[in-house]
This record gives sequence, C-alpha cells and structure tokens, in this order.
Amino acid sequence: MEKLHIYDSLSSELKPFSSIKDGKVGMYVCGPTVYSDVHLGNVRTFLSFDVIFRYLKYLGYNVRYVRNITDVGHLVDDIDEGEDKIAVKAKAENIEPMEIVQRYSQGFHEVMRAFNALPPSIEPTATGHLIEQIEIIKKLINSGLAYESNGSVYFDIVHYNKNNSYGELSGRDINDMLNGSRDLSGQSDKKSPLDFALWKKASAGHIMRWPSPWSIGFPGWHIECSAMSSKYLGDSFDIHGGGMDLKFPHHECEIAQNIGSTDKKGANNWIHTNMLTLNGQRMSKSTGNTLLPGELLSGKSKHLTRSYSANTTRFFIHQAHYRSILDFSDAALQAAEKGYKRLISSRNILNKRPENGPKIGSFDVNKWDKSCQATMNNDFNSPQLIANLFKAVKVIQNDSKDFSVLGKDGAILLAEKMDLWMFDILGLTNDDKADSNNYQTALKAAMEIVIETRKNARDKKNWAKSDSIREKLSNAGITIKDGAAGSDFSIS
Ligand code: AMP
Ligand code: ZN
Repeated sequence: MEKLHIYDSLSSELKPFSSIKDGKVGMYVCGPTVYSDVHLGNVRTFLSFDVIFRYLKYLGYNVRYVRNITDVGHLVDDIDEGEDKIAVKAKAENIEPMEIVQRYSQGFHEVMRAFNALPPSIEPTATGHLIEQIEIIKKLINSGLAYESNGSVYFDIVHYNKNNSYGELSGRDINDMLNGSRDLSGQSDKKSPLDFALWKKASAGHIMRWPSPWSIGFPGWHIECSAMSSKYLGDSFDIHGGGMDLKFPHHECEIAQNIGSTDKKGANNWIHTNMLTLNGQRMSKSTGNTLLPGELLSGKSKHLTRSYSANTTRFFIHQAHYRSILDFSDAALQAAEKGYKRLISSRNILNKRPENGPKIGSFDVNKWDKSCQATMNNDFNSPQLIANLFKAVKVIQNDSKDFSVLGKDGAILLAEKMDLWMFDILGLTNDDKADSNNYQTALKAAMEIVIETRKNARDKKNWAKSDSIREKLSNAGITIKDGAAGSDFSIS
C-alpha cells in the first residue's frame, strides 16, 4: 500500500490514515495496572505499539505517545465492587500501596528497556490526575448522564443509550446485556446493573482513598483514561490502543464518558492487539497462566527448555500480525531464534563485503525498500515486513558468491535500509557482537596486551610460556604472526 491504512476496531474497517493536525499524531495506549510483574502477553501488546510508534515517527509525524500507569481504581475481577488490586497486594505485604506501585512501575520500565521499547512521550498516572477525573464526573452529573448514590457516582447507561449506542465497540447489544445481568433491586446503589462506577465511596477497610465532592473514596477504573487522554491529546485525537480484552468494559465505558462529557468520542482510530496465549489459553495474571520476561531471559520456567534473548522474543512477537492470536511455545521460540540469527548474520555479511566487488548490481534496493514500506502501510503488517527482509537475505546470500547481485553501491544502500527496517522500525538490535565496532576495538586492545606479554616472555627466553600463549590462542582460532615490525594476529 502506498499510504498508511489502519484497521479501526470501532468501525471494523481498514481506513486510510490522516492525522487530525498536520504532521502530528496523538496516540494514547492503556498502560499496565502496576500490582504485579508484567507478563509476556502484556509485553506483546506494548511491543506492538512500540513498532506502531516507531513507524509513525519514520513516516515523519511528530508523535505524542501517551501511555498511562494505572495505580488506582482497577478492582479485583475488573468489576465495580471489591478491593483494589494494588491494595490487596499492599495489605498482604503490610506496606503502602504506593510502594507496590513504585516497585512494579520500575519493573515494567526495566522490562521495556530490556526489550528495546522506546519510552512514551508522557507516562501519566491515574493518582496524579484525580482533579481532572473529578471535573469530568461533575460535568457528567450536570448533563444528567451520571448520578450520585450513597456517596458513589455511577454512569447512567440506560439514559445515555437513548441517544447513543453503548456496546458498539465490543459488538454487544444493550438489551442482551440487560437480560443477561443479575437483577440488582435493593442490593446495589446502581439504577441499572449496566451502570458503571465513576467514583466509589471507600468502605472502612479500603486503604486507597481521596476526598471528593461526594465522599472520601476513589475513582472508577475507566475515568482515568478519559481524563488523561483528553488532557494531553485533546477531546479528539488520532489513535487509542490497548489489548483486545480491554474493549469491554474499559474502552466501551471510556467512549461513553467521552461522548457524555465532550460530545466527541475521543479517538478517530481504535487499535486493539490480539492476545498472546500459552497452552492455548490467554496469558493472564489472574489465572496464573503466565510466562514472565525474566523467566524467558533466564530460561527458568517449566515452559522452556532454555533461555532466549530479548531479540529472539521481539522477532517471535513481530512475526505475527498484531491482530492475530499468537501462541507461545518453546519450539516457536527456537524457530524465531534461528530466523533472527539468519537475518542478523546475513545483514552482517554486508560489512565484510570487499570494496572491489563489481559496481553494477541487478537487485533494485530502492524498489525493495518501497515494498517494505508497503507492508507497514498495510496496517503495520510486521510479518509481511519480515518476509520481505528474508527476500533481502536471499539476495545477500547469492551476492556473497561473486558480489555481482548487489554491486558496491547496492550493498551499501541495502545495509542502510536493512538497519532501518530491522533496528529502527522492528526495534531489534544487532546481537552479533563479533561484527560490532565496540567488540572489534575491545578485541584489539586485549590482543595488544596478550602480544606484549608474549613478547616479554620471549625476551626473557621463556619459550615454554610464549609457546603456551601461542598454542592457547591457536586453540581459540587466533593465529599470531611474527614479523619484522612486531607481531600481529588474525582470526580464522
Ligand atoms: P493490564 O495490566 O492487565 O491492564 O494489561 C496491560 C495491557 O496488556 C493491556 O493492554 C492488556 O490488554 C494487555 N494484555 C493483557 N493480557 C494480554 C495477553 N495475554 N496478550 C496480549 N496482551 C495482553
Ligand atoms: Zn485505559
């Protein structure tokens, strides 16, 4: 595709993308709820958005990427009753909820860094935006779309639905939802079981609490994202993202809050990533069906035969399109490792290509580069991009026979373009240290020390020592050559 198209999960259409403001893109992605370590499923979602962020920047957009931290309001079982996930953990350890938030936010950042994800432009927290959330709730009450009940405030779905369609994003019908829900008569503060909390009055044992016009309490889970997206990106912005499991109720409620308070639905494009599964089941914190990034990098897990690198993991993740289910298995990681290694080693062959190869090549690098762009323009189709990278791998392997396919200039240009797609867009790094400049410099410095030590031994006629150094180096594939100007080395 010549122009970027994005699959919008609200309209269920592949739409040509045009940003609201010329040259600028506002993107909001729901971040983690920081009550435990992020698992590989979470990582998949955030790496998918990392590639989207990178590609939008590559297209020349000035991207403001907002990814929040949920540090209050996300209750156990994702419902309106019960305890805050963070408070449960804090109570169990007898520490402050914010100590839990600090620990797992830091852990999340370390994981993102380990997987070479770019940091977002703004990373706001829900507790840092309570005033903004309260202001939106006031607006919703004033417009009759929210009501106070016993110190809590709820969004009135039935009223909202008179002029709007609650359930549009997740494809749910409000009547089906009403029929399927429990009758709450007399047992709840809510008018309808579909209503969701905007503010909850804190019960005696609820330790996360703040003052508000209605009670000492805490915000509902959904209002934070309406507050933070509109604050930093405006009432209408370009992209809103998150995992598919957030479509309902989280994003559905967010849309209702946005329309109710601003008359605008928020994002022009909704991007939902599909789930990473483990043994065919969704990877999820609550069920314990998880694999942690640390387990993958150390190999310490019953699901693994050994460890895998961050690059192998990224390769594995981007080999699937973000809208497809991806199943984790040790065998799939082994295949990804092979693929990644072949890609990098082929790329690095270009570094070793002799300068004196033929000038004119038969492979059109610019055309190939355009086709890479076309894959990403097709709803960020990373598996197609990777397939295209392997077309270049084939060319490089053929070229290495007689250096006629690429030509000298073609080889230089291909190296540059491969770096762009592999490193700048897919976020991989060059693990093949033997080819990196730093490695070569360090090796040279270390060899100078070894050669000096050997020379000293020879000067002292300590032949046993000098021969032993030469032999040990030879066993490691390093040959020492003694010449008139001193000794040099080569690697076989
Ligand atoms: P949470 O901290 O549970 O709110 O999740 C953070 C992000 O990870 C959300 O966008 C979720 O939709 C996403 N997510 C959770 N589980 C998975 C999974 N198994 N695969 C992919 N994304 C997931
Ligand atoms: Zn959110």
